[in-house]
Amino acid sequence: MTRFIFITGGVVSSLGKGLMAAALAALLQARGFRVRIKKFDPYLNVDPGTMSPYQHGEVYVTDDGAETDLDLGHYERFTGVPSRQSDNITSGRVYRDIIMAERRGDFLGATVQVIPHVTDAIKAFARADTEDLDFVLCEIGGTVGDIESLPFLEAIRQMAADIGRNNVCYIHCTLIPYLAAAGELKTKPTQHSVAQLRGIGIQPQVLVCRSEHPLPEGDRAKIALFCNVPKEAVISALDAPSIYDVPMQYHEQGLDDQVLAAFGLEATPPPRLTRWDDISERLHNPEGEVSIGVVGKYTGMKDAYKSLTEALVHGGIANRVKVNIRWLDAEEFEGQDVAARLEPMHGILVPGGFGERGSEGKIASVRFARERDVPFFGICLGMQMACIEAARNLAGVDGASTTEFGPTDEPVVGMITEWMSAEGLQTRQEGGDLGGTMRLGAYEAQLSGNSVAAAIYGAPVISERHRHRYEVNVHYRERLEAAGLMFSGMSPDGLLPEIVERPDHPWFVGVQFHPELKSKPFDPHPLFAGFIAAALRQSRLV
Ligand code: GLN
Repeated sequence: MTRFIFITGGVVSSLGKGLMAAALAALLQARGFRVRIKKFDPYLNVDPGTMSPYQHGEVYVTDDGAETDLDLGHYERFTGVPSRQSDNITSGRVYRDIIMAERRGDFLGATVQVIPHVTDAIKAFARADTEDLDFVLCEIGGTVGDIESLPFLEAIRQMAADIGRNNVCYIHCTLIPYLAAAGELKTKPTQHSVAQLRGIGIQPQVLVCRSEHPLPEGDRAKIALFCNVPKEAVISALDAPSIYDVPMQYHEQGLDDQVLAAFGLEATPPPRLTRWDDISERLHNPEGEVSIGVVGKYTGMKDAYKSLTEALVHGGIANRVKVNIRWLDAEEFEGQDVAARLEPMHGILVPGGFGERGSEGKIASVRFARERDVPFFGICLGMQMACIEAARNLAGVDGASTTEFGPTDEPVVGMITEWMSAEGLQTRQEGGDLGGTMRLGAYEAQLSGNSVAAAIYGAPVISERHRHRYEVNVHYRERLEAAGLMFSGMSPDGLLPEIVERPDHPWFVGVQFHPELKSKPFDPHPLFAGFIAAALRQSRLV
């Protein structure tokens, strides 16, 4: 029997519900249970694919090509369970599907309503693809009291009646603010938030209380009394030094025990936490440090590079070093002394991105890394910039550019309107829809035997996740190879460059895909482990 754990948030947003869900799933997994985490987003976009990274942070991409909320990245990093399209739903997607069904006439003349049609669709989503699982954790985005989350709360309330009260557990995550003037933690907002939840028929069984100070026993007792939960089920959650300490911290506070108790599963043996112990030990006892300059555009919004940041941390874990990430705004480089900014770096990374702004700064950074033999890692747009740099400065293709930035006579990077996927030929139109139309999800690449890429992966064929509309133009391959760039990874049909590298450089790799999406703290991505190892060698040279 699959059991469901519903996670709601109250008082304020940004409480780390996603991290809590991921950590709890990891703890249940460490007890031998099979888990999956899903995210319900109440906004009206069909998916976050068209949202600005400034608004919504990174768009996380799954193997099956879904553009999803960045919390799915946390889920995958903590559990190792690959996320799927069916793990993220938005109000927009629910309404779109219902309206399409209504237009087809599927409702046979009925009046289409929020209850039952929208709530049924939400419940169907919660239960989709959950056979063979012990626990499904569903995180409801937003905060209790938001108008848009009401249909989701109503749907999860109904789930208890549908599948049995003993098969669901409700966890509510709140904030206990500290009032410095009074010198006290305040429980009232939590009481109100739980009262609001009870007003819509949900009595939470576990409360996760975020606060800056440990919760005194008296406050726990008070919250328990007013919110109608056992005192042990009031979990105190303080900020952790690293997100990878969070599973251990929640375990020490009894979160997993309380959730299992809510299901009547008290007798479960304790979790095996060696994996998380080992990660914490490596993170907190580094044997050195490296500085990595990330030359990007969204550097003011750290969530825009969430998976990238974590993958760099994982590269540090693999090499037992602390990785200091220096965020460098590519736009500031333009017309400036690039060397002064980049000389302190042991590695330079140009990440994915969209649009022309900052591109000359990125190209200048590639050139610096190439000429000074500093380890370079280009991801997606970063690889495209590396190819344009080589074309302009080594191959004599003066006007080399990408059609993303406007019409050009030398489209070293260009929009592709046709390519092969596992499902068959994909075609797109210039000027077509922006949502869901990029080359998305897992694609294979074949690696050249004598390359750094093949050595790093230790395999001739790899599969990585993509999210881009433009490709390095294979017609420039010969000229770029003559300029010293090796095309070491290609799509199986040989038409789409997937990896380029420079054999004459200590470590220079550009990839068209997003390796950061698959990196995990207990299984660092080999490219990030390799890049940080190269940066470590560089740090010993300078
Ligand atoms: N803007 C580029 C493209 O669409 C790169 C995208 C990315 O870096 N994810 O091809």
